[in-house]
Amino acid sequence: MSLNSQIEWTDATWNPVRGCTKISPGCKHCYAETFAERFRGVKNHPYEQGFDLRLVPEKLTEPFAWRSPTLVFVNSMSDLFQEGVPDEYAEAVSRVMTTANWHTYQVLTKRSERLLDLLSSKLRFAAERENIWWGVSVEDRKYGLPRIEHLRHAPAAVRFLSIEPLLEDVGEINLEGISWVIVGGESGPGARPMKKEWVISIRRRCRLYGVPFFFKQWGGVRKVKRGRELNGRTYDEYPRRVSALVPDRTQCAAFAQSFLNSFRGMTSSRPLVQVAV
Ligand code: SF4
Repeated sequence: MSLNSQIEWTDATWNPVRGCTKISPGCKHCYAETFAERFRGVKNHPYEQGFDLRLVPEKLTEPFAWRSPTLVFVNSMSDLFQEGVPDEYAEAVSRVMTTANWHTYQVLTKRSERLLDLLSSKLRFAAERENIWWGVSVEDRKYGLPRIEHLRHAPAAVRFLSIEPLLEDVGEINLEGISWVIVGGESGPGARPMKKEWVISIRRRCRLYGVPFFFKQWGGVRKVKRGRELNGRTYDEYPRRVSALVPDRTQCAAFAQSFLNSFRGMTSSRPLVQVAV
């Protein structure tokens, strides 16, 4: 895991999967791709293979070693529900999240159909855990709004929207069953503009539905300069976080070992493709 994430709405990132492929306009300036491709070909660097999809099973047990309850963005450098990630691997990631339940996990995807499918079936055991927040990215009406419908139909306890980069007015969005909304503009070279009225409209919908609203940033080429205030204040609202007892070191090590044993059993009976060694 990486502590002290630069991402405003989380504390840490955990990447048991690396790399991804672009699927919609929100991916155009993917920060993860830009970062990963910088290291393509650099021997022994975690991103030696650039942004190519790669499972990283040696990262799976990291949350057991981290004993302070932490807000963890899962796969900030990837998408757990992309086609190349086997169901069994998504299940292994989910097993870690349900066992190391003293952390709160934020799982964000653009592959909302697969999220709905798996949370309704193989990942049902994790769907309704309150320490796992399941979210979809929304950048526009065409691609973003159908994702909200998939998420709403998923049997999740905590559902959230990351409306970033916000590329157009998304209209009167239905926030029924949604527990959290993040809004942000695109940042970096070539950043597409975000209008204030689009943001105000979403904040209004959040107030109407009683949904916590987090305003991440205005974005732009120099995002620090434009800041993250909306009408003279910041919005840093979150859903309620549940707390769980943190086991002692010995128990944490035992959890990790037991997980590894079951994971090895799973992979030996049905080998996972693309496992990094
Ligand atoms: S889905 Fe996310 S991680 Fe994957 S390419 Fe798009 S923006 Fe990047």
